[in-house]
Amino acid sequence: MVALESTLRILSLGAGGFIGSHLASHLLARGHTVTGVDIHSDKIGELLEHPGFTFVRQDIRDTGFEVERLVAEADVVIDLIAYANPGLYLRQPLDVFHLNFTENMKIAEACVARGRRLVQFSSCEVYGKTVARAAPGKLIDPEDPALATFREDETDFILGPVSKHRWIYASAKQLLERVLHAYGLEGRLDYTIVRPFNFIGPKIDYLPSDTPGFPRVFPHFMEACLKGTQMKLVDGGRNRRCYTDIEDAAACIGLIVENPGGVCARQIFNVGSPKNEVSIRGLAELMRDLYATKLARPGARLPSIVDVPAREFYGPGYDDSDRRIPDISKARTLLGWEPRYDLRETLERTMRHYLAANGS
Ligand code: UDP
Repeated sequence: MVALESTLRILSLGAGGFIGSHLASHLLARGHTVTGVDIHSDKIGELLEHPGFTFVRQDIRDTGFEVERLVAEADVVIDLIAYANPGLYLRQPLDVFHLNFTENMKIAEACVARGRRLVQFSSCEVYGKTVARAAPGKLIDPEDPALATFREDETDFILGPVSKHRWIYASAKQLLERVLHAYGLEGRLDYTIVRPFNFIGPKIDYLPSDTPGFPRVFPHFMEACLKGTQMKLVDGGRNRRCYTDIEDAAACIGLIVENPGGVCARQIFNVGSPKNEVSIRGLAELMRDLYATKLARPGARLPSIVDVPAREFYGPGYDDSDRRIPDISKARTLLGWEPRYDLRETLERTMRHYLAANGS
């Protein structure tokens, strides 16, 4: 690990979530101090005693939340506040808009008012669909990975119609990015935007039967392993994702927070593992295979893999990103970062975490 010239006072809003919890551990190990704000602390139990960590249990939507005071006390602000699960985009689109845009704007404006640097989490969802999905049957080679390899400052965004309300999340994040860019153009905000590509690791989400929420695909498949039930493939599991180990992600975002030589000023970074591309069907098969060959108790019932129509699984308003591969040349060049973990390794570690947490 490279020694730091100076340590930072970091305000992390949303520190109790999946990304926030891993990131806070990483930043504390680097010698920084972190003030974490969140409604929940169950994912950061082990950090609460850390001398460098201060926890503020707070809903940022509460009228009494003193965002400007906390921002003023920090050197850098990380904004992770988000509803970031597709199930929520479909069930609570207005809440998704208000939290991901309106509330995030207040944080950005506090950074403008107090002259603080902002590391804003956005999403690879902003890229939307590929040209191949938008123009079916029109391309010579729709499988060319170049069509799905997204570059931060060049790729156009292709989102579905308003009636597919899943896109409200991508639209809110996109608009937020554009507002930060505009503040930057006026020289009023020093910001860096992070676009995560399907981070995965321990604590990613609760299992569907554990909470009333609607988690991402990994916990659905994990629960199917634990209970020997069905892994459900929405629309045949044809869509593809590039899964990124949360440890790789935290290392990259740690560099973005530290901002060596100011290289991250007014930059957008894809953070992802291009080599880890897999279809959702492939993910189900890989998890079932890992479970059967390495993790299950002898005689355990294995999950089955079944197809379900999207409308049955999500209800109306569903649409999807078909494929998204991060171009990470910017993170490589400016930060010297390279993802290290392959998907099998990451899945095994993550599955072991859930098995241990469920007494298996
Ligand atoms: N999906 C699935 N079965 C599930 C949950 C999700 O086939 O039990 C699909 C979903 O339709 C999408 C992909 O898995 O194509 C990834 O969904 P996720 O909720 O993990 O988040 P996203 O990557 O879309 O943000």
